[in-house]
Amino acid sequence: MDPGKVPDLRSLPRAEIDRLLARLGEKPYRARQLFRWLHQKGAASLDEMSDLPATLRARLAAETSLAALERAEERRSTDGTIKWTWRTHDGKLIESVYMPEPGRKTLCVSTQAGCAVGCTFCMTGTMGLSRNLSSGEIVDQVSRANRRLVELGEGAAPRPLTNLVFMGMGEPLHNFDAVKAALDVLLAEDGPNFSNRHVTVSTSGIVPEMRRFGEETDVKLAVSLNATTDEVRTALMPLNRRWPLRELLAACREFPMKKGRRITFEYVMLGGVNDADADAIRLSRMVKGIPAKVNLIPYNENPGLGFRAPAPGRVEAFRDILLSANVTAVVRRNRGSDIAAACGQLAAEGGPGDPRRRAGGSTPPLTENGSAG
Ligand code: SF4
Repeated sequence: MDPGKVPDLRSLPRAEIDRLLARLGEKPYRARQLFRWLHQKGAASLDEMSDLPATLRARLAAETSLAALERAEERRSTDGTIKWTWRTHDGKLIESVYMPEPGRKTLCVSTQAGCAVGCTFCMTGTMGLSRNLSSGEIVDQVSRANRRLVELGEGAAPRPLTNLVFMGMGEPLHNFDAVKAALDVLLAEDGPNFSNRHVTVSTSGIVPEMRRFGEETDVKLAVSLNATTDEVRTALMPLNRRWPLRELLAACREFPMKKGRRITFEYVMLGGVNDADADAIRLSRMVKGIPAKVNLIPYNENPGLGFRAPAPGRVEAFRDILLSANVTAVVRRNRGSDIAAACGQLAAEGGPGDPRRRAGGSTPPLTENGSAG
């Protein structure tokens, strides 16, 4: 069957799988088996589902589609980070990044092919939006990664990964329905069974969707802040014209926060742009009263984008100002910058949005990556 034209089995929520199998005259336990094959064992095809009767598999093949992401490229960093480029059934290239740390193994997943937000410091932002990913394509990044990590001896089947961050290519709240459906699957007991405390969705600040996100999901929120004045934020993130800092911070204050939770503010530090002492002082005032922590992310320089990393010592000085104002702040050293897997580096290298191409530079054949809504 042609994926995209008939129900995509991997995108169906559990209730739909139940209904589908009931319509096919199957007992309820078959729905559970199928869901487990899809999302716990990460089956790439119906052929793998050895304990489903051949007649049922044939009917599923006739009435549904089941596409798996194809691994187009794998790049490994000296720090243990792995970046995968996946090819979708219609030839889009998307990326996920694996970041192992003591006590946790995190996958950063993409929610869109490209991104419409257009942050000026982000490689993905140079690509524009190609299309939203389906919930099945979001979930399948996790399945493919888990399977590959088992092959590489990085952990035990079925799920070496412990944490997920939705900070890859795309703005998750621009693809809310698919993200929400993917979260339902990823947290399901019969599926990968991630803990809601170990899953974080990051937004660039789509204010109207933030409340809905808080009300309809049970995972953690990160907000990509990156500036302390509207002038600088608008230059870095054009969506700030629509939802300026005052509105964004009001949405954070009113966010329906679960007990014991806090919002993570991501702050990419760009040398000479947003890394002055005055920025740190303003930032500490801005987040006052919001249960929050600030992640400081020193910028990774990308050719063609015109920004530079903060000067040595600047990040620590900035952090210390926040700490002295009683703001929880941590420095997140970028991972995998030698394989272009770090924050802000996810983009289809050699594609129309690649500034190296526009500059006439030589481009390797496959994708690079850029990230982080
Ligand atoms: S930083 Fe995030 S929201 Fe901004 S362009 Fe990049 S992927 Fe999109």
